[in-house]
Amino acid sequence: MMQHNLFYQGVQFLTGKKLDLDITDQIINIPPCFGPLFGGKEEKLSVSIKEAATTIHDILYRKEEHLHSNHDKWDRFDHDQSALVISGLDHSPIVDELVFCIIKQLKLTVRNIWPKGKRAAVCLTHDVDQFDGRSYLILRKMWWFYRAILSLTLRRKEICKEYLAKIRRWTDSEYDPVYAFNKWMALEDKYGFRSTFFFFGLKHALSREGRLYSFRNRRVRETIRRLDKNGWEIGLHAGYHRNLELESLSGQKKNLEDALNKKILGCRHHFLRVRFPKSWQLYEDAGFAYSSNMAWGGEYQGFRAGTSIPYKPIAGRALIEIPFQLMDMACIENPVEYHQLFLNYLKKVKKVNGCLVIDFHQQYFDEVESPGTNRAYRMILESLAEDKEIWVTPLIDVHSHFCSKYEDNGGDLTKGALR
Ligand SMILES: [Zn+2]
Repeated sequence: MMQHNLFYQGVQFLTGKKLDLDITDQIINIPPCFGPLFGGKEEKLSVSIKEAATTIHDILYRKEEHLHSNHDKWDRFDHDQSALVISGLDHSPIVDELVFCIIKQLKLTVRNIWPKGKRAAVCLTHDVDQFDGRSYLILRKMWWFYRAILSLTLRRKEICKEYLAKIRRWTDSEYDPVYAFNKWMALEDKYGFRSTFFFFGLKHALSREGRLYSFRNRRVRETIRRLDKNGWEIGLHAGYHRNLELESLSGQKKNLEDALNKKILGCRHHFLRVRFPKSWQLYEDAGFAYSSNMAWGGEYQGFRAGTSIPYKPIAGRALIEIPFQLMDMACIENPVEYHQLFLNYLKKVKKVNGCLVIDFHQQYFDEVESPGTNRAYRMILESLAEDKEIWVTPLIDVHSHFCSKYEDNGGDLTKGALR
């Protein structure tokens, strides 16, 4: 039995064919653009299929992340230490492109992956870091006031003025730009789109996780049920702390399921505070069907594992990783540029029949509080509505579709394509 290898899994998935054991020593040509993946410069290489398979597997399995010494201040793998980032290959689905190149050399054909003949998929997702703006408003106002005074003492009058204007805006008891679920639903529904909202499943609104919201809150429960009833997906936004403890993760999942009265299948960690491969194992053990954590988040965009194609990272287990590539910011100074980045990623993802996943935070809907962010999102939706080659759908549909395609293909691929 061939050991678990994500390259063979990918080829079998994309082509519907198992590679023959006899050909693993066959030599293939690696064009110069892929040279850095093999530790070399941009030069033409000749390697065996076995070597290429090991290289690709290690990138997808995130072997470089397994060491304990390469973490940032949030105890996550340090973006700047990634080989793909260092070699400047992190803004393309470079691994998918290499797999396609090998498939071509093997004279195999990529089959149609997506339903209704679509070229690629796009999933719209929202992390719900903040639920509403009026809970604990007094605490926030005190904080803004403190910042206003501090800015004044630092002779930064403009910032002081901004904080005072913010306090004034929030004196209107009807004002709550943070709670924007109805607006998200109306905006996406205009195009017939549905998305995934990742909610926390925390017991307490105030805890060492910060000022968040509790699954027991009646308004939270009503909101997630309304989203679900209307076709939006609810996933778990797992807490920052105790991120590698199964008991904590299972508890949060159960809490959210209790609020929704339905199983939760997807998980994304707050701050993307994951550690591969352990986090995958935890998600699987906690009963999740998919993870959507393979991204950088924050200020960094790109393809963390060089891929836009979902895969089953753990041998013999059903869990699927659906990587994501693009995250918003509290303020997008240049929405046109951001939209261009999205189009650039989309073009590349279409070429490899992949799935592009974007994440816009629930609380950044308002143009006054988060300038440019919603404008960038609207531009993305406009271009998606015009592109008839794209399947726009919640993550759960990509998960179900992938499972059915895997089954199409003789069942479990995770035990390796070669026998
Ligand atoms: Zn978050």
